[in-house]
Amino acid sequence: MKKVNEFFGSMVFNDSVMKNLLPKETYKDLKETISSGKPLSLSVANAVAGTMKEWAIEKGATHFTHWFQPMTGITAEKHDSFITPSSDGTVIMEFSGKELIQGEPDASSFPSGGLRATFEARGYTAWDPTSYAFVKDGTLYIPTAFCSYGGEALDKKTPLLRSMEAIDKQARRVLELFGVKASRVTSTVGPEQEYFLIDKNLYEKRKDLIYTGRTLFGAMPPKGQELEDHYFGQIKPRVAAFMRELDEELWKLGILAKTEHNEVAPAQHELATIFSSSNIATDNNQLVMEIMKKVALKHGLVCLLHEKPFDGINGSGKHNNWSISTDTGINLLEPGKTPAENAQFLLFLAAVIKAVDDYQDLLRISAASAGNDHRLGANEAPPAIISIFVGTELNNILESIAKGEVYAVPEPTDMSLGVTTLPTFKKDSTDRNRTSPFAFTGNKFEFRMLGSAFSISGPNIILNTIVAEVLRQFADEIDAAKDFNNAVAKLIKNTVKQHMRIISNGNNYSDEWKEEAEKRGLLNLRTTPDALEHFLDKKNVELFKTHKVFTESEMHARYEILLEAYIKSINIEALTMIDMARKNIIPAVNDYIKDLTKTATLVRGLSPEVTCYFGIDIVKKLTLLANSFVLKVKELEQELKKAGDIPNCLEQAKYFSNEVFGVMKELRKIGDEIEVHLGEKYLPYPTYGELLFSV
Ligand code: ADP
Ligand code: MG
Repeated sequence: MKKVNEFFGSMVFNDSVMKNLLPKETYKDLKETISSGKPLSLSVANAVAGTMKEWAIEKGATHFTHWFQPMTGITAEKHDSFITPSSDGTVIMEFSGKELIQGEPDASSFPSGGLRATFEARGYTAWDPTSYAFVKDGTLYIPTAFCSYGGEALDKKTPLLRSMEAIDKQARRVLELFGVKASRVTSTVGPEQEYFLIDKNLYEKRKDLIYTGRTLFGAMPPKGQELEDHYFGQIKPRVAAFMRELDEELWKLGILAKTEHNEVAPAQHELATIFSSSNIATDNNQLVMEIMKKVALKHGLVCLLHEKPFDGINGSGKHNNWSISTDTGINLLEPGKTPAENAQFLLFLAAVIKAVDDYQDLLRISAASAGNDHRLGANEAPPAIISIFVGTELNNILESIAKGEVYAVPEPTDMSLGVTTLPTFKKDSTDRNRTSPFAFTGNKFEFRMLGSAFSISGPNIILNTIVAEVLRQFADEIDAAKDFNNAVAKLIKNTVKQHMRIISNGNNYSDEWKEEAEKRGLLNLRTTPDALEHFLDKKNVELFKTHKVFTESEMHARYEILLEAYIKSINIEALTMIDMARKNIIPAVNDYIKDLTKTATLVRGLSPEVTCYFGIDIVKKLTLLANSFVLKVKELEQELKKAGDIPNCLEQAKYFSNEVFGVMKELRKIGDEIEVHLGEKYLPYPTYGELLFSV
């Protein structure tokens, strides 16, 4: 077997490849573009394109594609081959600088939220040189941003890059006041990705999984996750083989796949990658999700990325570990040994605390989707209420700052494991809190509300921008003050005092917290439409405009796209339920009833003294259930029709959330009860037991 360090990043046109292959001057120019955003001249682009093409052909590429991230949440690509005909009937392989830096895919079939009229079909892709090009499946992939003819962002990368610039600018202003030199501040992200693996043959027998990614019917099996025997459990051979191949594929693409383990639910797993800049982490996470799906198929498995594939079983999320660092390697959220005396750290910490409190609505929106609504607040994932966990030590520090007291450093306590052969170790100053939506974990924050299927772009756009805004306010205030030390101390104290309400170190799953949060005036936006309603609030529009992350029309477009996506996904689920009810469940009930009735009649024919009680009993039960089931199907159809007639997008989304979804739940309840009473060979689709325990 080849050693990992020999093939790691082998398919990536990374810095070391560029340094080796590009002419010195070209390399220098390109590096300047990458580090400071300086525009690239066409002659440099031509030189880079030529070298890139030769390198890609060596790696087996015949095509190239501008790879972009439209508002669908997945990536898009259109492949062009390198071939150009020559006059003698042969072909040559060509790739120009213009083809590298700009593309013009037809944009008319991507969601634009009204930003692009259908007659302006053209969209533009522009090379993002800060994310490396790579070769995959015989194609050279060029990461690009995607925008309309008028320059409006139609994708998830453009605003992310803008938000990174915003936080870079404001963080450097603050650092400058501290006398710290840095030529760039970058937001860093390490995502942890949860997923399910199920058998492909079983998957193919379930329309709900195929059309919607989650099961819409399915009774609980005798065993679920109650034995708690799956988390960190031994990885089964078929899954282990999948993970090995996945790692290799990711490593070839330079993606730092690091940790893999079984998750809480049966058939559930997690993959964590080592952190990088938000932009690269986002590109890489899109690839992780795509490659997970592809590799799974090769192993006869299907990878489910939906947030709630199985009712009654934990769903899947994504943890977005986030921090900010300078190009000189300083993590601005690193408290050091004595955080109470580290004014710079405390100021950045205060900025995050204020940002999260001021923009709870935006963070909640960044984790909102039809799929994730099943998780948030369901005691398996953080609640829909945004709060921050800082751990005991920092909490004590913040409290003494707010009260204006001097913080007394406690002696570190030894943690004895009670076994003499095991070493004692210093107790971590921050314990974990799995119930917190936003937890400080030593030198970074872990935003834990994201859904597993999300692009992490949205949440990071919001995080970068809201923290940039508070840093802007801080820099303005300190800049205007006469005495730097005084100004910083006052700012930290006032900010902490004003925003202590957002800190919650207890159990966020409890009802007491819900009540307490309400008393504190924290938002509790339960569903996606409840959350999205706040997106266009004046303060949010101002925020994005100030930092040039979204224009007002881009925000309106996103608002529409998100609401539409929500409506469409519930609509598809409802239609799938109706389809399964009519085509699978009712016929299955009918077959079983027919057979039972036949038996009962035969038995009676045998002798009038023998009565087929069991048959009669089941037939009675099933006919009752099936009757009310069919009525519910009709009701659901009527609700869908009513919903379809509502012209306003937000009203419509709310109707889907409050009414349509309610009837879907009732329909499911009856369907699941029918399943319980059916004989095994009459079952219309594989059960939860088979789906969860057969790999
Ligand atoms: P856990 O204890 O939750 O497993 P780890 O230290 O393993 O925590 O980190 C989890 C994730 O956080 C990893 O993806 C890791 O790369 C990422 N991470 C670590 N440091 C940073 C940082 N400074 N910025 C962003 N992410 C980080
Ligand atoms: Mg984690």
